[in-house]
Amino acid sequence: MNYAIVLAGGKGQRFGNEQISKQFIELTGVPMIVYSLKIAEKNKNIDEVCIVVAEKEEDKVRHWIREYGITKVKYFARPGKERQQSVFHGLQKIPAKGRDTVMIMTSVCPFVSQKTIDKHYEMIRLYDATITVVKATDAITFSNDGKRVNRTLQKRKLYLQQGPQVFRYGVLLMGHKIYMEDEEYCKMDVTEDSELVLNMGVECYMVMGDRFCIKVTYPEDLAIAESLHPLFLQQEEKYGGIAGGN
Ligand code: C5P
Repeated sequence: MNYAIVLAGGKGQRFGNEQISKQFIELTGVPMIVYSLKIAEKNKNIDEVCIVVAEKEEDKVRHWIREYGITKVKYFARPGKERQQSVFHGLQKIPAKGRDTVMIMTSVCPFVSQKTIDKHYEMIRLYDATITVVKATDAITFSNDGKRVNRTLQKRKLYLQQGPQVFRYGVLLMGHKIYMEDEEYCKMDVTEDSELVLNMGVECYMVMGDRFCIKVTYPEDLAIAESLHPLFLQQEEKYGGIAGGN
């Protein structure tokens, strides 16, 4: 079985809207989380979906599931304080076994293409972990304290990580358990699932994503996403049918 976990438990503090979390804000008239749900719904590889969402938001999400004809959502899990805990709660909720796969999707990357997801499922047959990336076009500067530069990383070998990521269930669950049971490790504040499995010595492979597949984090990203929406639709049409949006 291939499961997808859609993360919608964040408060979106960087987005700065206290009334509504960014994953519920409308993009071209459609709540942002619905894009991810429609993408998972459409992909032939994904069997069942679990949504990680706060209890007070669940009714609203269930309403959209009915309104947009989503059928694959079978499980709801509650968010944790950090993203990693939310993933862990989702992993505990789905009835997956070791070699089943789990795709981790956020609800704030509305333009994940079917092509990208299909590439993941081709690769995960051979490997235990695959992540989506695009090539970095700018050099990246690393600073420990946010003031002084420690290193400037050369862009030629740098990739920016996007969603989604796919893992063998047993491998990811083990990565999370090792992380959560080790206080010192937790202090390292790992934010990416890929890092948890890399730290176990598991090889992780890259799937090239699309440049238009942005993550909506700040208010200005919403305007950028609105303008990129036609590109996403074009790509989906070329690949065979429209996956997201209207
Ligand atoms: O905070 P960030 O933008 O990286 O969040 C990425 C995704 O993880 C979002 O979809 C957000 O709703 C989700 N998240 C979560 N639980 C948290 C924090 C974030 O489900 N505690």
